[in-house]
Amino acid sequence: MADRPRFGPAGMPLGFKVLKRTVDEMPMYLRAEGLDAFEYQMVRWGPVPQIRREMAERLGKNAVENDVWLTAHGSYFVNLTAAQREVLEASKKRLLACVTGANWMGAHIVVFHPGSYAGRPPREVYQTCEKAMKEVVGSMGSLGIIKVHLAPETMGKASQFGSLDEVLSLCERVELTEPNVDWAHLHAREGGRFKTIDDMGKVMDEIERRLGTEALKNLHCHFSRIEFTDKGERRHHNLERVEYGPEFRFFARLVAERGLKPVIACETPNLDVDAQKLRDMVMKELKTKGRG
Ligand SMILES: [Zn+2]
Repeated sequence: MADRPRFGPAGMPLGFKVLKRTVDEMPMYLRAEGLDAFEYQMVRWGPVPQIRREMAERLGKNAVENDVWLTAHGSYFVNLTAAQREVLEASKKRLLACVTGANWMGAHIVVFHPGSYAGRPPREVYQTCEKAMKEVVGSMGSLGIIKVHLAPETMGKASQFGSLDEVLSLCERVELTEPNVDWAHLHAREGGRFKTIDDMGKVMDEIERRLGTEALKNLHCHFSRIEFTDKGERRHHNLERVEYGPEFRFFARLVAERGLKPVIACETPNLDVDAQKLRDMVMKELKTKGRG
């Protein structure tokens, strides 16, 4: 459980890349920026971990020493809703590789994109996904991995499996599972649903009703501005692109009002620069509330 609202980039910031340092030095870099979370990207991973174990362990150690909350984003080559047996087996193997890497790092969760409908009935697709996730959790158990949680993400296109309802259902029914709420994706999936602070508050109410107050308080989130079409997500944008929603100030206000301690992975192209802006917006709301 995070102890306070935490902020960091989803991936390696440009300013870090140009230093040509190894990823285990990321926590020091983020700490110097006043950030305290990092989502390590495993998005191109295959059937075995694509980081050396020593490197992963050093990253984890430095994260602890620099008070950086570590999470991971799993492989894009995972499809736990596939109808074909081979695809499903390969997907479970890839997700398990990500979980193994996350375990070396001491990362708290592995975010992943659960799959797509591919023309099948949503109910059937849901069942496939739940079963596959339970099998992955079973394998994690036999590997002795008990600290890493799976975090299915709310997805931004209507064709992708991963509505809020589907993600919450998975969290209700599968052990060691918690939601990764991508607010931009929810916004895009439903044609710009977050028009007021209440629209966002309602999603929080739903999460609290179904998963409990602790789950809401400790939510792992993705945030960016987002461009969408009638099919959903098109592209993530920087915070300064005010022509695109959703508004983080709604979220910041709700964090202060409800006393939440979310971990926010910033997914705008500006990663760490915007993560600092998000942090400052929440800090400002907390101060205002403290005075009021
Ligand atoms: Zn994602």
